[in-house]
Amino acid sequence: MSQLKPTYERVLLKLSGESLLGNLPRGIDFERTRSIAQEIKDVYELGVQVAIMIGGGNIFRGAEGTNAGMERSAADQMGLLATIINGIALQDALEREGVFTRHISALEIKAVAEPFIRRRVIRHLEKGRIIIFSAGIGSPYFTTDTAAALRALEIRAQVILKATKVDGVYSADPLVDKTATKFDSIRYLDVLNLGLKVMDATAISLCKDNDLPIIVFNLNQKGNIKRAVLGEAIGTKVN
Ligand code: UDP
Repeated sequence: MSQLKPTYERVLLKLSGESLLGNLPRGIDFERTRSIAQEIKDVYELGVQVAIMIGGGNIFRGAEGTNAGMERSAADQMGLLATIINGIALQDALEREGVFTRHISALEIKAVAEPFIRRRVIRHLEKGRIIIFSAGIGSPYFTTDTAAALRALEIRAQVILKATKVDGVYSADPLVDKTATKFDSIRYLDVLNLGLKVMDATAISLCKDNDLPIIVFNLNQKGNIKRAVLGEAIGTKVN
């Protein structure tokens, strides 16, 4: 174990499906997945308990189905299955880095992943197993951001680390608007009132009502997950 003292003992890392894309238009870039797994291992080696909520947008989003006329619930079930595929890929990548993991799916899929049993998941974390949550909360009309907030609260994580492709929360989309400015910290209510795209409103409200801080940071900068866990001022803190 490292001598560096982490600020957080238990974290929930939200990885979008997009984070596994690398340069691909769709699907899973295995090299990118491996590099993320290495970064997660670095955090684990600090002695931090890590749970991950994995998204599915690199494979399928419910909205793609509904835009084509599908029933929302059916389309969202496809999205949920996409997150399970990513969960399998991430588990494999982490285990090839030599860490122990458990894949927990909110949809029953016994041969692939365990069901969510709160006490059991906490026990896994205490035993040094990295948790991968997939299938969101298992119900349509939700996102994996909201699922991240819910599971973080249930397992008593001290913070949500929301990995993105920008440096934090901006006044406008910095990839589109060059005059956008970055916030070092921002209140939950301001995120909601200004309509800033950090996480969806349900997720932000859940964090706000339960005082769960969110650190929004750029995953494309190597070492950032570790910096966030060590309490370095990176990205934007929502609290
Ligand atoms: N989804 C859902 N319920 C949940 C979480 C996810 O129905 O609790 C579906 C929804 O269709 C969503 C898809 O799964 O579009 C993929 O999740 P998300 O869009 O949150 O993934 P990300 O944007 O993080 O890659």
